[in-house]
Amino acid sequence: MVAHDSASTILTKEVEYAINTYRLQSAFHFAQQITLENARNGPYGSLTVQIGTWNTKIVRTCRVHKHTGDVQALEKGEWKSLETSLKKYFPVSDNETSADSDTMRAWWTENGQTFNWSALPTELKENVLQFCVNQPYQHSITYYDRKKYSRQSKYQRGPHEIFHLLGQWSSLLRVSKQVRILVLRLCLKGSIEYPEGFRIGSGSHKDFARKIMRLGSYYQLVEPNSAPVKATSSQILAKRYLYSPQYYPGLARYATYAHAIRKIDIEFDYLEALHFFKASIGGLEHHRPSNYMTCDVFERLPYLNGVTIWLTRKWWTKGSYILFNIWHDTDPCTRTLERWIYERVAQALNWLSDVTIKNFMDENEERMFRDLHEAHQLSYKMTKAEHDDLYKDEGGGISLEEVVFDDLMMDRANLLSASDNARYCRAKDQGTPPEALNQDGTPVLPPKCRCAVPCREAFFDKPRSSRYQ
Ligand SMILES: [Zn+2]
Repeated sequence: MVAHDSASTILTKEVEYAINTYRLQSAFHFAQQITLENARNGPYGSLTVQIGTWNTKIVRTCRVHKHTGDVQALEKGEWKSLETSLKKYFPVSDNETSADSDTMRAWWTENGQTFNWSALPTELKENVLQFCVNQPYQHSITYYDRKKYSRQSKYQRGPHEIFHLLGQWSSLLRVSKQVRILVLRLCLKGSIEYPEGFRIGSGSHKDFARKIMRLGSYYQLVEPNSAPVKATSSQILAKRYLYSPQYYPGLARYATYAHAIRKIDIEFDYLEALHFFKASIGGLEHHRPSNYMTCDVFERLPYLNGVTIWLTRKWWTKGSYILFNIWHDTDPCTRTLERWIYERVAQALNWLSDVTIKNFMDENEERMFRDLHEAHQLSYKMTKAEHDDLYKDEGGGISLEEVVFDDLMMDRANLLSASDNARYCRAKDQGTPPEALNQDGTPVLPPKCRCAVPCREAFFDKPRSSRYQ
């Protein structure tokens, strides 16, 4: 019989209240979803109830103690506090129970208390916010970006890379200035989940250029007066910082999201990579479209500290043919093209120690790149030290050492000019620019394969799966 008289209704409410009090102790208790499922009249004005979660159910006879007002339950013939039964049958252990964000939200809504967020020290606030900068997807964001998966529209506006780091917590950016600063610091500088900081990736040059420009048009707005006003000098100052942050560190309040990029992952096709790293071999720079975004853009990224370049295996990319054909008609050479790319990377990124190239065709090439990059890094460091030394403030003039040409240096200089001269004469005869010919008089572009195992056999004629075996 279902309890419906007033006494049992009151008793039911009392039992419900006791269960609720037990649940509200902590978010873990709350996560258990203990409910009163079925109540009927028991003997002597008591109530028999079924209490349960999705996997545990108990049936108990309950009453309210006449004097103390406690809700009690009959355990093996003895009246004990209902809380004792709940503790026994619905225990909470830290390693078994978990409370997700929805449970937490519901628990705070139910328990009638407020959390004194503003009283927390900044370090603790940051710890709490760490949990909001999470990884909502299976792979890293750059994985999807490089693979050009349509996880989001390429034409989506706004700095959506940041919103994706925050997932459902992106509205935190609008809570208050302090929370915005803390959250952005975690997203951009690094958090537990993303220790390396803000990272972007692109699978094509066009996408990369568009991304840099888009991120460069949204201000971080973490300092006062950091939004430039149209048609005022602030707009000019913001532009200055956008293009030359290294010369105007005092204008850092106008920092955009592009300025905060720490790591870059790119996968360009062969010609895109050669143009991006400003390869000039064989006069290739003359084929570079005007206003093409090159690696000079890295100078605009003051915090950039790592670049990963994925050598593409998409040799058939049509884009390459529209601008300029770098594939030899009969003997195309992938190895030469890749060598040109990494030689330029080693030189152009000599100021950066964290440069990784993936997808090398063999270990030998990889080692050659590493050695080359190390050498360029060393010469950059030496040049920088000399430069710093030259410009260090000593309050006086700079004494220049007299350069003495020794025989060896003169020999080398003569040798270089002789070979240049010979090439120039040959080129002049054939009507091509001097830089576009090899020593033997054949054109440099497109490169002709001279590898021990011809690239055509190793790459082009094989099915894709067995190309590297
Ligand atoms: Zn080859």
